[in-house]
Amino acid sequence: TGPGAAPAPRPVLAGIPAYVPKPPAPPAEGPSHRLFLNENPYPPLPSVAETLARAATEAHLYPTIQPERLTHALARRLDVPPAHLVTGPGSVGIYQQIGQALLEPGDEVVYAWTSFEAYPIVTRMAGAVPVEVPLAGGVHDLDAMAAAIGPRTRAVLLCEPNNPTGTAVGAARLERFLDRVPGDVLVVLDEAYFEFHRSPDAADGVALYRERPNLVTLRTFSKAYGLAGMRVGYAVAQAPIAEALRKCAVPCGVGRLAEEAALTALEVEGELLQRVERIVAERERTREALLGLGWEVLPSETNFLWLPAGRDAERVAAGWERRGLLVRAFPDEGLRVTVGTPEANDLLLTAAKETVPPAR
Ligand code: PMP
Repeated sequence: TGPGAAPAPRPVLAGIPAYVPKPPAPPAEGPSHRLFLNENPYPPLPSVAETLARAATEAHLYPTIQPERLTHALARRLDVPPAHLVTGPGSVGIYQQIGQALLEPGDEVVYAWTSFEAYPIVTRMAGAVPVEVPLAGGVHDLDAMAAAIGPRTRAVLLCEPNNPTGTAVGAARLERFLDRVPGDVLVVLDEAYFEFHRSPDAADGVALYRERPNLVTLRTFSKAYGLAGMRVGYAVAQAPIAEALRKCAVPCGVGRLAEEAALTALEVEGELLQRVERIVAERERTREALLGLGWEVLPSETNFLWLPAGRDAERVAAGWERRGLLVRAFPDEGLRVTVGTPEANDLLLTAAKETVPPAR
């Protein structure tokens, strides 16, 4: 003790990994393409940019404690009661609310691995215990996940479609799984990539939660709606869970500009979803071309592609980084590459042609 001493952070923090361990670095010269965070490659539509400019003149004023107008607009759009909606600064903000509202030290949290990197963070932050169930061929192994649920399980975190592999289990399998989860275990269904999911059997968590008091469905304005920089995510859940999550929200956690941008995005949703169509078409074109070049690429229902590159992941990512293609390497697992503009995807295909594909 004494004037030089500092308070000790909670010991659990020592075991918490960084959200993105090693962001790729752009080359010193030439253009680069950010293909490592699953961002939308298109900048805001003029209508959204105008809204932001207008809202900026009121940036000296607090937003409301919760974004009331956005909550009501989303409730109308999704046909759910406003009391079932929770908003937050991105869905990562809502994950923190989930941790605070529902997890206690010693609780077990079941999730697939590899899946969204927030899962171990949220779990450990709460002092809860991660129970990681390996993916099978890049897909959630729902039987193994159901088997991993025990008396100490408090929550199951399920990313559908999955980040980083892009795969989806589909509505039929998901519903059978949900039927096997005990009612006192929370299921968080993360649908961050919902709008990119094109399988006829795509699950819809906003429909599913109505019959299931233990389900929370998460969505975001960051991906399909192109507002990652604004930080707006939302959840739907029945009233008791939604209320608990709202209690744990940071007051004024959705800023004025963010709320206004999201409101305008909902108004011009048709235009934004046309962009989503383009991204989906580019996803399919890029995947087909990569397969043709001898690369292994999993089928994707998201705005990114997963290349299981194993031990070659970092070698390939480093080579592409020098070309200005900033992709995300998961060491010893694979590469996650966001679907970009057609130009960026063409550059990726050129790079892939000139790179030795990983040994199978
Ligand atoms: N969930 C998943 C599965 C994601 O991949 C991401 C972003 N990478 C998020 C949530 C976070 O999104 P937000 O910007 O809404 O915090």
